[in-house]
Amino acid sequence: MAGRVDLDGNPIKPITICMIGAGGFIGSHLCEKLMSETPHKVLAVDVSNDKIKHLLEPATLAWADRIEFHRINIKNDSRLEGLIKMADLTINLAAICTPADYNTRPLDTIYSNFIDALPVVKYCSENGKRLIHFSTCEIYGKTIGAFLPKDSPLRQDPAYYVLKEDTSPCIFGPIEKQRWSYACAKQLIERLIYAEGAENGLEFTIVRPFNWIGPRMDFIPGIDGPSEGVPRVLACFSNNLLRREPLKLVDGGESQRTFIYIKDAIEAVLLMIENPARANGHNFNVGNPNNEVTVRQLAEMMTKVYSKVSGESSLETPTIDVSSKEFYGEGYDDSDKRIPDMTIINKQLAWNPKTSLWDLLESTLTYQHRTYAEAIKQAMSKSTAN
Ligand code: NAD
Ligand code: UDP
Repeated sequence: MAGRVDLDGNPIKPITICMIGAGGFIGSHLCEKLMSETPHKVLAVDVSNDKIKHLLEPATLAWADRIEFHRINIKNDSRLEGLIKMADLTINLAAICTPADYNTRPLDTIYSNFIDALPVVKYCSENGKRLIHFSTCEIYGKTIGAFLPKDSPLRQDPAYYVLKEDTSPCIFGPIEKQRWSYACAKQLIERLIYAEGAENGLEFTIVRPFNWIGPRMDFIPGIDGPSEGVPRVLACFSNNLLRREPLKLVDGGESQRTFIYIKDAIEAVLLMIENPARANGHNFNVGNPNNEVTVRQLAEMMTKVYSKVSGESSLETPTIDVSSKEFYGEGYDDSDKRIPDMTIINKQLAWNPKTSLWDLLESTLTYQHRTYAEAIKQAMSKSTAN
């Protein structure tokens, strides 16, 4: 750790970070990185610490005096402002961010992504503290190309689909499509943070993650989350593979996504943390434009990779089609395609993702198999016995 320098060659000084949502998927990887590779201190705020227990215990860990867990619900806890004041930088990851909730729990979704984030922004602004806020690629909504006729050659033109921080519009569906409650709340908090920067000098960076995936993402229903819960696609498909069920393709699995390995994405966040002069005032796309697939292709690739890492043969019918209404309920809608433009993050932070989709699925599904296969077997044999 000695002699670490920033992108401009200046020595990096240890700082204290108030990380809200530190117990989640991204937070757990960021805490791991900060503990193992930097001298920074983390005040880890969350309602749960299951995913960072390995960093908190035992007390003899090399970094034990650099990470402190605070079990706080930011909706209603007066300790939050004190922690933000104690820190040099606040990183806000806390959110409801599973699509199955957006149309079924739109009020919770809007409160979580907008109202609950407001005091965090206010405390940072009033106390002159830097803020890194996690938004989403979903604020772009649908691509312009999605509205062109299916056979239009313009659909192949990147100008109609690549998502650029400083020029792309945000295109959401109608209000009754409550899927967009999340994107809209995230967009408004981005605008508020931007305005705090413009009017009150808040030092901020906004991160727009494009489908970051890897170990510890979400939960496996009935094992470490509710049986009826619907996590994001990686955990849905992992659950199906672990239980030897066909993978469910919503509305034909035609939507396209770019997936990035969590460890590549965390490198970008560390650069933002340690290069404030280059990161402040920017909204950064963080994704891997080279890893684009349709959801159907993702299902096919995950089926092949899982077969390799588990040694089990694939099902004869590996996928089935379901309608979005059946799978998510009324009010679901989808982003058609998400390719991040990388110009700004390349220029400011000289960052690029490295891991191919096959490699990131191989390491992630190896983790899923090692972590859950035995528990699933036991749960399934118990339910057959009953
Ligand atoms: P996650 O659900 O794993 O983590 C969120 C954490 O916030 C959870 O541990 C949760 O307990 C905590 N939290 C929520 N409400 C809280 C509250 N009121 N008080 C205290 N803690 C609270 O999700 P993640 O994938 O790690 O995402 C983190 C952030 O990144 C979110 O803001 C999300 O919208 C954004 N994001 C992630 C992705 C991705 O690809 N993973 C994509 C787009 C946006
Ligand atoms: N999806 C699917 N089957 C599943 C879960 C998700 O076909 O079991 C689709 C979903 O409709 C969307 C894509 O996979 O088109 C990615 O979904 P995810 O929940 O990961 O979040 P999103 O990328 O939409 O934010």
